[in-house]
Amino acid sequence: MRKYNFYPGPSTLPAEVLEAYGEELLEYQGSGASFIELSHRSDEVLGCHERIVAMVRELLGAGEDYHVLLLPGGAIGQYAAIPMNLVAEGGKASLAITGHWSAIASSEMAKFCELHTAVDTRPECRTIPDPSSWDVADGSEFVAFVDNETIHGVEFQRFPSFGGVPLVVDQSSNILSRPVDLSDVGVLFACLQKNLGPSGLAFVIVREDLCDRRGRAVPSVWDYPKQASNQSMANTPPTFQFRMAELMLHWVKDRGGVERMAAANEAKAKALYDYIDSSGYYSNKVDPKFRSRMNVPFFLPEPAQEAEFVSGAFDAGILGIKGHRAVGGMRASIYNAMPQEGVDALVSYMKDFAEKHG
Ligand SMILES: *Cc1c(COP(=O)(O)O)cnc(C)c1O
Repeated sequence: MRKYNFYPGPSTLPAEVLEAYGEELLEYQGSGASFIELSHRSDEVLGCHERIVAMVRELLGAGEDYHVLLLPGGAIGQYAAIPMNLVAEGGKASLAITGHWSAIASSEMAKFCELHTAVDTRPECRTIPDPSSWDVADGSEFVAFVDNETIHGVEFQRFPSFGGVPLVVDQSSNILSRPVDLSDVGVLFACLQKNLGPSGLAFVIVREDLCDRRGRAVPSVWDYPKQASNQSMANTPPTFQFRMAELMLHWVKDRGGVERMAAANEAKAKALYDYIDSSGYYSNKVDPKFRSRMNVPFFLPEPAQEAEFVSGAFDAGILGIKGHRAVGGMRASIYNAMPQEGVDALVSYMKDFAEKHG
């Protein structure tokens, strides 16, 4: 029996998407073989790639001035690929550290450029200082930040702006969850396994004109212009992920697109935070202005109760609720594919647990 799955990533996918894939597992749409058995140069796979690019452009509002890429190595791979592609040898960039993932981005990007920390909210990582107070180094080729910190549960309200310096945005855990303003965006990227499908790939949009600055050696699989002119097939791509990403993008489109996702996500997050705040039992310590709509960390009064909370949750049809060891406590990841009913089931379980133990 499928439970409501709150794992942070890989994470829940819509049953409709999994069923659609199941139906074509043995034979894909008259092709005579499973999609994953077809050559990546076949019309079917090239067609899938083309439809992904078109849907991404439509859903994100990304024009022809952006390359749309699907690249190996996930989001962490991009932390290296971005400075390699955008910053010349010895060049500079700036980055905001607001949680676990931007700290990892920092150590990775610093291997490939002179990286300045514009702001650092560690160790708590419970708020986002006003971008006008950030220390962006002169001559930075980009300013990078993680739009939603998956582990700390901190999310920007909107993209900051630094007088036109290109933004590098990690949207791994909130892509397509709300409309975005691409005006200052140089690169926006996300691993697939939160809002876009199964794990293993990074989805990347990058402004074409920024890719000419490098003059340095870049591995072919991460060479943006090369991948752009090769349908992201500089190596044999994971075609299963391609097809699943296409089905996920379709699902978002069929349900009314990004604005509709945003309204549903707003309602789910509000239901959960409202209950936590009013419970007198659970707590969330993030500055309310920057609470994530995608990942909701919360604490029980006593850490000793956590094991019982997690096992009871499983019996109540709730999976993957344990928090990350860096923060502790519990965490509910409520991406696009989590229905309101899943959040309602969680709140109802939390109420029962609090009544029994409070
Ligand atoms: C999950 C996640 C990553 C890591 O993705 P990988 O696929 O493991 O590379 C990076 N950044 C954020 C914000 C994430 O949520």
